[in-house]
Amino acid sequence: MIFRTPLAGVEHPEMEADVVIVGGGPAGMACALRLSQLIDQHNAAHPEAPLSKENIYVLEKAREIGQHSLSGALLDPRSMNELLPGWQNEAPIEAEVTKDSVYYMTRRGAYKFPVTPPPMQDHGNYVISLNRFTKWLGSKVEETGITIFNGFAGSELLCDGQRVTGVRTDDKGVDKGNQPKGNFEPGYDLKSKITILAEGTRGSLTKQLMEKLNLGDQRNPMTYSVGVKELWELPAGRVAPGEVIYTMGWPLTTAEYGGAWIYGGKDNTISMGFVLGLEYPDPRTDPQHVLQSFKQHPFVAKLLEGGKLVRYGAKTLPNGGWWSMPQLAGDGWMIAGDSASFLNSQRLKGVHLAIKSGMLAAETAFAALVSGDTSAKQLASYKQSVDASWIKQELYPVRNFHQGFNHGFVAGMANTALLMATGGYGLRDRYPAHAGHTRLLPLYETLGQSGDRTPLTGRAKGDGTLTFDKLTDLYHSGTRHEEDQPAHLVVLDTDLCTARCTREYGNPCQYFCPANVYEIEDAPEEASGKRLHLNPSNCVHCKTCDIMDPYQIINWVPPEGGGGPSYDGM
Ligand code: SF4
Repeated sequence: MIFRTPLAGVEHPEMEADVVIVGGGPAGMACALRLSQLIDQHNAAHPEAPLSKENIYVLEKAREIGQHSLSGALLDPRSMNELLPGWQNEAPIEAEVTKDSVYYMTRRGAYKFPVTPPPMQDHGNYVISLNRFTKWLGSKVEETGITIFNGFAGSELLCDGQRVTGVRTDDKGVDKGNQPKGNFEPGYDLKSKITILAEGTRGSLTKQLMEKLNLGDQRNPMTYSVGVKELWELPAGRVAPGEVIYTMGWPLTTAEYGGAWIYGGKDNTISMGFVLGLEYPDPRTDPQHVLQSFKQHPFVAKLLEGGKLVRYGAKTLPNGGWWSMPQLAGDGWMIAGDSASFLNSQRLKGVHLAIKSGMLAAETAFAALVSGDTSAKQLASYKQSVDASWIKQELYPVRNFHQGFNHGFVAGMANTALLMATGGYGLRDRYPAHAGHTRLLPLYETLGQSGDRTPLTGRAKGDGTLTFDKLTDLYHSGTRHEEDQPAHLVVLDTDLCTARCTREYGNPCQYFCPANVYEIEDAPEEASGKRLHLNPSNCVHCKTCDIMDPYQIINWVPPEGGGGPSYDGM
């Protein structure tokens, strides 16, 4: 794998660490908190041999904790009840779920299910802003004395053979031409006994490690969806705080997987978005357009009438589940949260699983520190604890859920019923899966497919009131990057983009990116007459391009720490 060219001859200062947690989302913060609790208990019981928290670090690429955290979000409280009993009394909660419903949409109709299917019943869960919730979790970590480095991305894993020996943080102050600027500061080499990767979906260090150690061997490939979200303020009384609405059907045809959510929050706000499986056949499919079309449905348009868009964001989520989970631990390393596919796609929930996996990684790390053994053999107990926990009880029965939609919506629903009747077994214990980009059809094949994809394909124009074009939406994401830095979208062969991809797939990057980063522009001087133009400073870090590019020649690498979206209140 090729990443950004490192600067030659740069010395990186070294720091010793016991544990480095890469990623300050729910998994990383829960991991740090649990580790701190265990150290406190140990020190109270063994004052003669105390453990220190001084050499435990969390790396977070956002300027502030929570700024890159985006989700629906509904929180199943199970793991938080274990981590911090009574957490509801101080955590920022939008509302407790009071009402849930599911609709099947046709072009003009919305048909409510007489009973909400059990996996989508949300009583007992909480509507939260993941941004605010993560910020609060981060403050709990800071109270423990564990250091969080905000604005520091992990740019490279430090390895010694198969062993991960730490993380190199990003260099600051490098210009577009990959030359040091006046404010250049080299990244640190954090030499760590244990490195825990909790980077979120399609983590860039996790991707490095998976390729280096072949961690997906004998597993299903990871598969993903992208969620495109808008936060709206509505006239009072339109959607109650804690009201949850899910939809399936239109604007998708039977060949796409996905659906929408609407969650009522505080102060007449709603979180609304569309999750689209990144395994759609038509390369012109545009997830931001899908959300704009959804809002034009009479049922939704009526709900939004008189309201206004407040914020926008996009993020991918793993939906491969149990069979896609990679090897979770090895010599000096573990993987937690979305990076390791801890998400229940049938319930559309992963925050509680991310938190629990972070806690289990912390318990494993603590035992390893106490024993002085951080080898693969010792850290293998992480997977054993996952298997013995309610994570497996929740994910194993739905292990074949998502793959059931490989043959379309109707087959997927029939398979869901079969899985419920057979405890998740279905037709065989492990259904296969295929990486989403391999399911894109060439343009000429797509044109012959059935179903009207007009509401899904091409760029949305937007009317400026109910619907928006991508740049208007992007403006509401608060995205900001240092402009003079190397592009963090590393396209390995830009000639292929215009010489081959234009012809075969029509450059799907123009459509699947929800932030208008990729543009194909006229270039008479080029043999193809076209050129790929990048706007990296628009990037909202959703990772869709890294996942869905048909030739797998796009590598998303972290930009200079601190850059990215600002999902305040999202
Ligand atoms: Fe998402 Fe890639 Fe676009 Fe960035 S460039 S917003 S990671 S699709």
